[in-house]
Order: sequence, then C-alpha cells, then structure tokens
Amino acid sequence: MPEGSPIHGGQRIRDSFNKVLSTMPSDGKTSFFGEDMPSLEALLIGGGFEKYRARQIWQNVYLRKVFEPAKMTSLPLALREFLDKKFEFTSGKLVGDRRSADDTGKFLFELSDGRYVECVILEAPDESGGTRKTLCLSTQVGCAQGCKFCASTMRGFKRNLTYSEILSQALSFVDSVSGKFLFENIVVMGMGEPLANFDNVMMALKILNDADRFNFGARRITLSTCGLADKILQIARMDFPFRLAVSLHGATDEVRSRIMPVNKRFPLEKLVPAIGEFSKNCGRMTTLEFILIEGVNDTPEQARALAKIAKKLHAHVNLIPYNTVSGLEWRRSPLKNRLAFAKILKDAKVSCTLRREKGSDIDAACGQLALKSSK
Ligand code: SF4
Repeated sequence: MPEGSPIHGGQRIRDSFNKVLSTMPSDGKTSFFGEDMPSLEALLIGGGFEKYRARQIWQNVYLRKVFEPAKMTSLPLALREFLDKKFEFTSGKLVGDRRSADDTGKFLFELSDGRYVECVILEAPDESGGTRKTLCLSTQVGCAQGCKFCASTMRGFKRNLTYSEILSQALSFVDSVSGKFLFENIVVMGMGEPLANFDNVMMALKILNDADRFNFGARRITLSTCGLADKILQIARMDFPFRLAVSLHGATDEVRSRIMPVNKRFPLEKLVPAIGEFSKNCGRMTTLEFILIEGVNDTPEQARALAKIAKKLHAHVNLIPYNTVSGLEWRRSPLKNRLAFAKILKDAKVSCTLRREKGSDIDAACGQLALKSSK
C-alpha cells in the first residue's frame, strides 16, 4: 500500500462530510466514506451487530478495496444486507474506454443521473525505466469558467460532482486481486474547475490521503486550477498537503484575457501573488501549465514574459501542445514554435518540460469525450 502523510483524523473528515451532506443521494443511503470508526461502531451496535465488525468492514473497504457488501464474505449475511441498505459505497460507473496509440486511456464515467464525465489515464516513462500511470479526475459536469479553447465548457455548467462521485472515479481503477490502485499519481484536472467545487474536492482528496483510509501519498496528488486566486489564497492558509498546478496559458493580461475569462476576475497582478503565497506557506514548487496555441500564446514575447513569472515564483513550467477541438478556431502550435518557446525558458534557467502529444488520437484534451457522448 502506498505511503501517505496523514492530514487529519476521522472527526475532521466527518466535519467536512457534514458540510457537503446536502449534495448526497436522496435514496436514503449515505456515503460510507463519511463514516469514521466511532460512528461506524455506534451504527453497528444500534443495528444489533458486534462492535468489532466495524474493524472488519473497515479492512474490507480500505485495505482490500471491496466496495460491494455482497463480496465482503467475512461478514455474516445479515450484516452485508444491513450495509447494503444503509450505505452507498461508490457512485457512478465506468461505461466506456478508448486507448490511444501512445497508451493514453480515456474513460467515460456515468453518474447516477445519467450524465457523464471523463477520466483519463496517462502513461509516461519513469526514472527507473518503468512506466508511471497518472489518473486524471473530473470534478464537475461541464464547467462555468468559459476558457475559449476548451470543450468542457461548450455546453455550460451542469452541476458539481459529490465527493463520492469524485472518489468513485479513482476507486474504479483498482486491481480486483491485489486491491492496489492501478495508477501511481492523481491529477485533478479533468472536466470542471476543482476549486469551484471546493468542499467536495477537498473531502475526496482527504479520504484518499488519510492514513487510516486509503493512505494515498499527498505528494502524488496534484490539484490543477484555472487560477481562482481567492481559493488559492484559501488553500495557502490551510493544511493543504497536495501539489498545486495553475493553468496560466497566457503570460500577459492581454493574451490571458483573450482565452480565459477568469483573468478578468483574477488578473495576473492578483493571481501571481496568490501563487507566491501558496509556495511560501506550503513550501512546495507550483507548476504553471501552458497550452501552446498557434498565433495566440506561442510567441517569443510570451515565452519571455512567462520566464519572468516562473522565475519570480520559482515555478516549474509544463508546456502542452494544444489538442484541436472540433468546432473551435484554435490550432496546435507548430513544433518549431514549441521548441523555440521551450528554448527561451531553458536559456532563462526556468525549470521546464515540453509534454509529448499524449492522447490526441482519442481526444484526450479537456472535456472532448464527454462532450461527444453527453445527453
Ligand atoms: S480549461 Fe478547465 S477551467 Fe477552463 S473551461 Fe475547461 S474545464 Fe473549465
């Protein structure tokens, strides 16, 4: 089981749970993941079962990763039925997948109301010559942020995902024999803006990371935002053990506002200090994501402006070739522009990676699969 750093115990998870109860399903069940050990024990005793059964259930769920009471064969039948009536363990299911030639897997995840989001598994070589898999999670159906280049926002915002729905995407990728996750890292950058669904996202990440639960290492989880500076300041001032990535995509207000409406609310003069405060308070390097779009932000002037921001923040820059979205005017920056852009950053001694074009044959850019399949 992966090592993780505990960030809080059951009571605090329960407090968070109470904040998001209003988003839970209305079929009388509650999410199992909102329970801590004392509340589970109390519930079992109230239902006429032995207290020690709580520990057995806990091990089934968090160690063996069994999410169907019928499969918890160490428990008596009456208790399995009790759990089935009382709790929702996972919410939503994988209904389709496609695998690209470069080993990007894109999965459609159906929610209980028949809507869809997507999750993506990206494979990349690691330092030891093996392969590292990163799971990309969605947090909203649609998105209200209106980034001009993004498919997720084309039909507007529908709703927030519950923490159970966010968590369930990750719990869908578990080896049924070993109980191990089928990925090494998580990045919260699928459909939706995670910080606009703050409580549910934090709750899901805390359950994944909690040492008494899934114990998934905080440093292997990255939250990616389009730049909600107020929320970045909020996480800078709280116990936030995860990594942060910010989608910059424009190194001047003029360019950024052209493609990201959020820049009107949080221009660079607000966003950059907020990222700085996060890095200072949390002691972690932030990643600046920069999708390169031809003729928009792939110029030498943008590269020089980006180098200045990255140096000021001691940030890492991740350059990503744009995946063209059908119906949108934007085009991928040509390779020679991308290489020239990266060279300016490297010459300025900025830590920078130029990402391979992963998943373009299966539309693995933000929102594209769900858009094609959505009701
Ligand atoms: S890029 Fe991200 S924040 Fe922007 S519209 Fe798409 S999903 Fe929303």
